Parts: sequence; structure tokens; C-alpha cells
Amino acid sequence: MPKTMTVEEVRQETQEDALLNKLKEALQNNDYKLWENPQLKPYKSIKEELTIYQGVVLRKNRILIPTSMQERVIQLAHKGHLGIVKTKQLLRTKVWFANMNEMVDKYVKSCHACQAVTPFKQRNPLETTEMASHAFGSVDVDYAGPFPNGKYAFLLIDEYSRFPIVEIISSTNFKHLKAILDKTFAIFGIPQKLKSDNGPPFNGKELKSYLSSMHIKHHPITPYWPEANGVAERFVKTLKKSLLCAFLETHDMEAQLQEFLINYRSSPHQTTEKSPYELIFNREVNTFLPSIIQTGNSNYNPSIEHTKRETRNNKANIKRRTKPHTFTLGDKVLCKQIKHNSLTPYYDPYPWKITRITGAQIEGEREGRKIIRNSSFFKSFIPRTNPSNPNSPSLITSPNPNESDTLTNTSLTKTTKIYETPPNGTIQEQETSENSMSTGTMRTRPSIAPSNRTPTPIVTPSTSGHEAQDIRHPEASPPSFSNRPKRQTKTPGHFKDYVVTKY
Ligand SMILES: [Zn+2]
Repeated sequence: MPKTMTVEEVRQETQEDALLNKLKEALQNNDYKLWENPQLKPYKSIKEELTIYQGVVLRKNRILIPTSMQERVIQLAHKGHLGIVKTKQLLRTKVWFANMNEMVDKYVKSCHACQAVTPFKQRNPLETTEMASHAFGSVDVDYAGPFPNGKYAFLLIDEYSRFPIVEIISSTNFKHLKAILDKTFAIFGIPQKLKSDNGPPFNGKELKSYLSSMHIKHHPITPYWPEANGVAERFVKTLKKSLLCAFLETHDMEAQLQEFLINYRSSPHQTTEKSPYELIFNREVNTFLPSIIQTGNSNYNPSIEHTKRETRNNKANIKRRTKPHTFTLGDKVLCKQIKHNSLTPYYDPYPWKITRITGAQIEGEREGRKIIRNSSFFKSFIPRTNPSNPNSPSLITSPNPNESDTLTNTSLTKTTKIYETPPNGTIQEQETSENSMSTGTMRTRPSIAPSNRTPTPIVTPSTSGHEAQDIRHPEASPPSFSNRPKRQTKTPGHFKDYVVTKY
């Protein structure tokens, strides 16, 4: 048997149901003679409440169940073995059919499991708690069990909504209790009051300090007077019955528990006259029963909320990131670099000169090498002028020859003097750097004469329609290498679009 009943199933079955078809006909034509049919007698007095909605007949917003499905719908509502009253209340929230109450009485009274676990006379404890004013202000906790499998059920009930939380646990120690309380409070909020009996699980020091750390007042109930904790006590009875039924029916206890909870939480409570779901979530919840959920009765409109959020995000974006840069051509700037270790500076310390600005895209040049980055990669560089010694060495004029990230081994002072256009497209030497790798250049071995080790020319692809001009002056030679073999390299075919340097 399917676990739930859908409106579609009811619609199909309604079409097959002779009685409901007669009823639909009478409703549609509103013919006095049609209503004279004795079969329609139970419907005549309520005909003002009846409507036809998408193939099903509704009494207000409750769905009329065709005869063939009536027993099944009671069975679904009795999942978890709620009592007669609760089963009826649950059915009344969603469905209706003639003689519903009588049929529920008969069904539940004849439920084998229920008969076995219900004592002959059951006295309900007196209601002693005053009504709580809001959800999760005051909660009652208790344990049920041990059950035949040795497990316990921890339960927590919100006094306002009567919404129950139940967890099957193997031990009543504080560790388990704390985990459940933490989880519950994370979903529903931290209550101000917690009521429990005075039994061992609830009178320990650990619970006391936990509750005081959360600013929850602990109200222990008078010993040997469990009726004082009326809300929890009554629920314990209902729950115990359901779980014992689970054993009788050899069902899975956990699965049965969840079925019980979904039905319990959706049936109107005797005291509050509303379902716990409704009071806690302020909405109708879809359950095993077919239902027509009313929408649009809350103040929350997802599409309006979405627009609001979009506007908020845009504002935040503008504030955070999209402030336009103020760089101008010729500015000296530092460029962000990849961190290789904790000592790698955030910016490559050797400045670049801005040679082109296209919106947020900035082109920087240094010693003939060009890079293109988003403006957020750059930061203005303020050079220090030393009037007493204009030739004093400074960081900017001497990039570290061993630092591959700085992309060059040449000093700025020398290379700015003379620039040469490369005579042909032969790559003589290339070195990698994070930038050159990312822009598509490749590494080759140096091919220069042993005594003429030159700095590192880098090619830049002409992705921006801009030919890279990698020029290096031969004078800018760091200490030479000796005994290095001479090798002639040729430009690979795919470099034909690049202008490269020869030394
Ligand atoms: Zn039952």
C-alpha cells in the first residue's frame, strides 16, 4: 500500500464513484429533482459548503473521499496508532465523507495493536500547566522506556504548540541528552524554561550547569507526582502506545516513530485546537493525507524578497569591489603576485609603468615586458626621492636576479637607456615565470654563449591585439656562466604571431 494518498488518486477515483458523480451532477445543475435522490440525503443539508474543484468535490477545503478509498484514508490517519479522537481530528483537517466518525470509531476500536496496548480504563491527568504565551518559551522533557529492545525515547514538548521532539536513544546519560538539546535548540531556539521530573537523568550537575550556561531555568516537578508535568506525561502515554504497537506489528521502531510524529504534529491538539505544525511553523504541512494547501496566506512573498536581496547585493558589490580605479597612463604601479611561501611579498616589489588603460583592464610595462591585468591587481607605487644622493640604490632599480617571479634580471637603470627592436623572430632564450606560463610562453634552455648570459626576455601573446615588444639591452648582463654549451634553437611554429627577442 502506498504511504500517502494524493489528490490525483482521489480525482481518478471520484470519476469512478457513482455516488460522487450523482452529487457532482446535482451540484452542477442545482436541480431540485436531483437532490431528491435518497443517496444524496447526507449531502443535501451541507450543499452550500460543497464545491467542485479540479475534479474533486470539496466541503469547504476538505476533500470528499470516494467510498472505495475511505478505509485507506482512515488507515493513513491512524498511522502511529493515534487514539480515536486524534485520528478523527486529523482526518477533519483534510478530508470528509459521510459517516466518517462512525467509521473511525469502528476502525480504531478494532485495531488489533491498539487493543493490545491500551489499558481498559485510562484516566487522563489533570491539566495543571498554564498556557504558554509563545512557541519554545517553555518546554517539558521526559524519558520513556526502556522498550523491549532496550532503548529509550527522549521527548521534549513545547508547551505553546504541543510540538513534540522524540529521539530514540540507547542511554539516558548527559552526553546523549546534551546532543539532542543542542540540536533541538538550534532548530527551534533556546527556551526560557525547561520542566522535567526529578529523576536521575535530570538531577545531575552537568545538566544543571549546561542549562545555566544557556540561561534556561530548570523547573523540577514534585517527586512522585508526575501528573504535575501534565503536558509531557500525557504525551508519554500516547507515544508509548504507538511504540509498543510498533513492536506488536514488528515494524521498525524508528520508522513507526516518524509516522506517529507526522500524524501527531498535524492533528489539532485538544487544548490548543490547532495542530502543532500550524502553531510552530505558521503554515499547513503536507502529510500522508491528500490535501489542498492554501498558499499566499503569509506576509512572505518569495519574488519580492528576491528583488530586495538583489538590490542589497548590488549595493554591497558597489561598496566592496566595483569602485572605479584612478590610475592614469605613465603611473608607476605594483602588481600582485602569487605567494610561494610565507615570505613572498603580497606585491611584486618592482614597479610597472602603465602603458594602456581599457576600462578596468590595465596594461603595465617593465623592461620591455608587458602584462595585462584587472585594475584590482595593481596598486600605486610611490617612489622615495633621495635628494642628497640621487643615484642611491633602491629596491626598484635592482630586481633580484634569483627571483624568478620578478620576471627579469635586468636593472631598470640600464635598460631604460637603449631599446632595440628584435632583428628577427628567433627565440634565443626564455625563462619561465608564473606570468609567462599563464600567458602561453614556453620555457627553453638558454642558448647563449657561455660568457654572455643575458636577462630573461618574455613574450606576451597578442591577445589584446597588441604586439608584445620584448626588448633587452645586451649591456644588461648579469655575471656570466662559463663552460655552457652552445645550442641553436628555432622558433616553434606556433610562435610565429609573436615578436620575440634575439640576443
Ligand atoms: Zn491502532
